[in-house]
Amino acid sequence: MASCSGVCEEVPEADIAEGGDYEVSISSNDLDLFQRSNPSTVTGGKAGISSTSSVHELLECPVCTNSMYPPIYQCPNGHTLCASCKLRVHYHCPSCRHELGNIRCLALEKVAESLELPCRYNDLGCSEIFPYYTKLKHEQLCRFRPYNCPYAGFECPVTGDIPTLVAHLKNGHKVDMHEGCTFNHRYVKSNPYDVENATWMLTVFNCFGQYFCLHFEAFLLGTAPVYMAFLRYMGEESDAKNYSYSLEVGGGSRKLTWQGVPRSIRDGHRKVRDSHDGLIVTRNIALFFSSGNRQELKLRVTGRICKEPLN
Ligand SMILES: [Zn+2]
Ligand SMILES: [Zn+2]
Ligand SMILES: [Zn+2]
Ligand SMILES: [Zn+2]
Repeated sequence: MASCSGVCEEVPEADIAEGGDYEVSISSNDLDLFQRSNPSTVTGGKAGISSTSSVHELLECPVCTNSMYPPIYQCPNGHTLCASCKLRVHYHCPSCRHELGNIRCLALEKVAESLELPCRYNDLGCSEIFPYYTKLKHEQLCRFRPYNCPYAGFECPVTGDIPTLVAHLKNGHKVDMHEGCTFNHRYVKSNPYDVENATWMLTVFNCFGQYFCLHFEAFLLGTAPVYMAFLRYMGEESDAKNYSYSLEVGGGSRKLTWQGVPRSIRDGHRKVRDSHDGLIVTRNIALFFSSGNRQELKLRVTGRICKEPLN
């Protein structure tokens, strides 16, 4: 075997196999992975690390950087990793390549139990502190957690707080922005007899210092083609209840009105649509409103957002 004099940066694979148990035999690839997932090991640590946050770092899976929850596993050399990474690395320790058994790291699990940590959305305004194991549950429902982009039509991966999403809707999706709490929109559909799904451009309203999204779509309700308009509130469900809205659509001496409560954008656009929580107009009625024009459907929707709950 070649002797290793001076600086020895890489141990050839064959030497590892022959030499048996090397304490640290990280291949350069693994080292890359390790350093990428642990930037602090490269830069020499963040400034001002308290003892709690260094324990927190111990509880961070070195592979995926998520917080580890029981069962926490370790290799025979003591390297820890989370349960889902254990499956992903095919039962070999990513740090030392030793085969992973089913060795739990009970000490670390116990340490976790004794910890109290701030919500991960601390930077976004949540000041709550939780025992380690209830932290995750809280974070799934924390009112400061980022919202998903409310734009419908395709799954947009953007998340953020409300001001971020309003800017994103304006600049990224080029939605119609509207100041004020009343509106009067005309939706046009050529070939109304086509039954395909259609989504019109989202309108975002700024009123009462809040933001609301008005959706308008065509789809099949069972076998019946319908048009649906509904409003979503850019904020929490509990705050959405403080508002109400009305929609009116008509023409040809007929009129349909809807009074409802805006739904929080925490509820996906599809969920609201599928719950029929809005103004639904069947195509036949829509054609009456459009004065029987069969080439082009024109629906005038007027509405108002109110800062008072419906009684
Ligand atoms: Zn992991
Ligand atoms: Zn290991
Ligand atoms: Zn929180
Ligand atoms: Zn988006």
